[in-house]
Amino acid sequence: MNVLTSTPVVAKRVFVLAMTVGLLISSPSTSQPQRAQETAPVTTYPAQLSADLRKLQEAALSSDYAYRQLAHLTDSIGPRLSGSPQAAAAVEYIAKEMRRLGLEVKLEKLSVPHWVRGEETAALVRYPGQAEGTTQKIILTALGGSVPTAPDGLNAEVVVVNNFDELKALGRDKVAGKIVLFNARFDRQMAAEGFGGEAYGQAVAYRSGGASAAARLGAVAALNRSAGGAEFRLPHTGALRYPDDAPKIPAAAVTAEDGDLIARLAALGTVRMQLLLTPKQLPDAESYNVIADFKGSEHPEQIIIVSGHLDSWDLGTGAIDDGAGVVIAMQTVQLLKQLHLRPKRTIRFIAWMNEENGVVGGRTYAKDHAGEIANHFAAIESDRGAGHPLGFEVKGRPEVLPLLQPMSAILQTSGAGLLQITTGTETDISPLGTAGVPSFGLWQDTRTYFDYHHTAADTLDKVVPRELAENAAAMAVLAYTLANLPQPLPR
Ligand SMILES: [Zn+2]
Repeated sequence: MNVLTSTPVVAKRVFVLAMTVGLLISSPSTSQPQRAQETAPVTTYPAQLSADLRKLQEAALSSDYAYRQLAHLTDSIGPRLSGSPQAAAAVEYIAKEMRRLGLEVKLEKLSVPHWVRGEETAALVRYPGQAEGTTQKIILTALGGSVPTAPDGLNAEVVVVNNFDELKALGRDKVAGKIVLFNARFDRQMAAEGFGGEAYGQAVAYRSGGASAAARLGAVAALNRSAGGAEFRLPHTGALRYPDDAPKIPAAAVTAEDGDLIARLAALGTVRMQLLLTPKQLPDAESYNVIADFKGSEHPEQIIIVSGHLDSWDLGTGAIDDGAGVVIAMQTVQLLKQLHLRPKRTIRFIAWMNEENGVVGGRTYAKDHAGEIANHFAAIESDRGAGHPLGFEVKGRPEVLPLLQPMSAILQTSGAGLLQITTGTETDISPLGTAGVPSFGLWQDTRTYFDYHHTAADTLDKVVPRELAENAAAMAVLAYTLANLPQPLPR
């Protein structure tokens, strides 16, 4: 999941809230999300193309292909952390399915980090009001890439801060030798209004940068309040970064409830924690991006990518992050085969590897295909769950939008007709976007996405089959439009 958008949050908040609750109040300027019928279409599509797009949409909405594929990924394969046997099994499964559909499959070799979770326990062993001989259990999970504590754990005082400024104000005197808890809250209200990405962006700064900030002041471990909206005492994992200029210290995310508990006790007096984390960083593992081409009939050298990332964190079964994205992209090529539709440009399915802890798949692809960037007509990725699709966020020239008006008019019949220019795009296709490839992120209703994101509750039951089908319709219709668009997209 990425966090970048261009439209000022407040304006977008009003708009998306209006959209989500069905009351439209926006004005048709390019910086605002547009609905198809608000601006006079500057282009029309050949009648056959429009008819094919409606057929694709209908077929997707009445198909359970994506849901059945997702059930296999989540229930039969399971969590797919990079380097794990499940990730390897998923690569094989997807490649086999793409071959079954008759596509040209290539496994792009990668060397990915292979981090493995170990034991993770914590308890408060000294705190105000403590009853003799008791401790207070704390629920947490190690951050991806974290180094281990000593084998018998560490025992230290906990200091609580709400942000980096408070940490700075404490200084080395009050931090050295202690465990720092960053109790920065995830803005649930912002997420409930459809701005989970922005709320996540704010909270994730402490997950990825908290350990190094605390370590620079001599801390022995770092904890962050989970970067997510769960209030079911579920910890949210996720990657951290260890820059070279700071010692590597163990790091974990506590649940929202445990963040509050520790903060309340620390306000009353000294709090000490016994912390045990035993993850391992194994040697990098061999893995692959799965690439499958449906060759174009007229411009086979021109490529439209449809994609999602195949790896997931290990706590849940990676249903909304990002099994959903992979199967949404799979359905695009499955539908074209089912309906005997042949794109004029090549549609390239990609199941990216290692989005969660290194982006090796996305970066390697952009490097290996640097010479073909001009022939990458567009890139599409879904990596914001499987909620109802509102439309697409577009990293590209505003002039792209009018060319897609007829398409978004069709998608608007299932409520997915929004198009909005943004400055950023999905993580795996971001290197391509930076290189000038027009990039499309599937824009879903994320009001509950961050409640389960990177937790043990990221499971199949969180996906509504109808909404998954709406997403499959949106990606298939956009991809086929781009594959048959008479004119090139402005870059
Ligand atoms: Zn993801």
